Amino acid sequence: MKKIFTTLTLALALSACTNSTNVGVSNVNRSQLFLFSSDEINAEAANLYSQTLSENQSKHTLNTDKALYNRVNKVAQRLIAKAPFFREDAKDWAWEVNVINADILNAWCLPGGKIAVYSGLIKDLKLTDDELAVVIGHEIAHALREHSREQASSQALTQGAIGIAGIFGIGNIGVSLSNIASNVFISLPFSRAHETEADRIGLELCALAGFNVDAGVSVWQKMSQANSDKPIELLSTHPSDESRISDLERLSSELKLQYKK
Ligand SMILES: [Zn+2]
Repeated sequence: MKKIFTTLTLALALSACTNSTNVGVSNVNRSQLFLFSSDEINAEAANLYSQTLSENQSKHTLNTDKALYNRVNKVAQRLIAKAPFFREDAKDWAWEVNVINADILNAWCLPGGKIAVYSGLIKDLKLTDDELAVVIGHEIAHALREHSREQASSQALTQGAIGIAGIFGIGNIGVSLSNIASNVFISLPFSRAHETEADRIGLELCALAGFNVDAGVSVWQKMSQANSDKPIELLSTHPSDESRISDLERLSSELKLQYKK
């Protein structure tokens, strides 16, 4: 029985492997295992998103600083306009941009293109527009690569939340997914492999949108310096390591050559 299950799982894994984005200068090209559809993941993300918006609406912290909102939205829209470079269907996504007025150093882009930047991140780190673009580009890249969908899939396999029936679409996968989703979208850190991909695609988005890609290095330097004073929420879900800065330096040079005006 165990052997049959392993064989079936392997067969499914092979058939479900795909690469969610086009390969650019950033050269992100890795097969991904998806056991849930994008629609299932986006529906779960939409629940969490509307819950977060209404919580902040009732606290009067949602898009209340008009000047800051306009600034963030302008940067985000330039990046969103270039997202179809990596996957064509992104032009049809229902993108949304929000600024949450709170002393929290965080930003996210939920599956399907729901973006939020917390005012604390911009103010505490004194982000320039180019640095803001790097952060938003990084978050958009996670959504384009469907990293949460990938994480939910590996969680499902690890936890055994779906059995053979679920794998063949007979079981109720939705119930398992909703249990997994709250963890995946809110607290589960991305892997370093996901981080590298988001760094690379995010920085190429910045280059395509005409931002200064040197900000890739400066913003992560600011982030790690500030993190030694007080923990930065963003770093708890987007783990860093020593190679991040040198990787970004190398990629910045390649992007500048490719996209020089
Ligand atoms: Zn990340």
